[in-house]
Amino acid sequence: MTIRSLVLPAAIALCLGSLPAMAKGPGGGPPAPTPVLSAEEAGTLLWMREEEKLAHDVYVALDAQWDLAVLERIAASEQRHFDALGDKLDRYGLTDPTLPGEGTFSVADLQALYDDLVAAGLGSSAEALTVGATIEDLDILDLLHAIEQTDQPDLERTYDNLLEGSKNHLRAFVRELRALGLDYEPQYIDPLLFDAIVGV
Ligand code: ZN
Ligand code: ZN
Repeated sequence: MTIRSLVLPAAIALCLGSLPAMAKGPGGGPPAPTPVLSAEEAGTLLWMREEEKLAHDVYVALDAQWDLAVLERIAASEQRHFDALGDKLDRYGLTDPTLPGEGTFSVADLQALYDDLVAAGLGSSAEALTVGATIEDLDILDLLHAIEQTDQPDLERTYDNLLEGSKNHLRAFVRELRALGLDYEPQYIDPLLFDAIVGV
């Protein structure tokens, strides 16, 4: 008996062990097993799903008051962000933490944040735009953390898409504020990053 005959089966077992992850071609066969998220990755995904609902529900509530095209357009975009994360919850077998009712949240902190943001945005249409910029500011910070934290390429891609969307939303809200002679001071992201996104 040689060393080789002992080593080879182990090498084959190793190769086979790594096969399912690669066997995802269009030729049929068993689908690749879904990778398991770490507790942190799962927690972040659940949080981001709630945050997209927060954005959507705040914009819908403020649009009902102010009837601003920018709010209506971005609310529709947030619905797509929310749905994209719903697909990820399904993929990773996570239970959706969001409540079906608009403006209702299972987490007390989120409910309080929603209530505060809507109350502020009902003050005036300019304050509604500031609330929009605030939500996007927070969203960008949380998405940057989410991208840094995950090892899953598909999650990273989804977060990247949401990040690009949030940058567009931030630009749109700040453009509207500047048209009114106002501006927005970033509360979450670095001022240098804010300037890079929005322009000075
Ligand atoms: Zn979003
Ligand atoms: Zn947004």
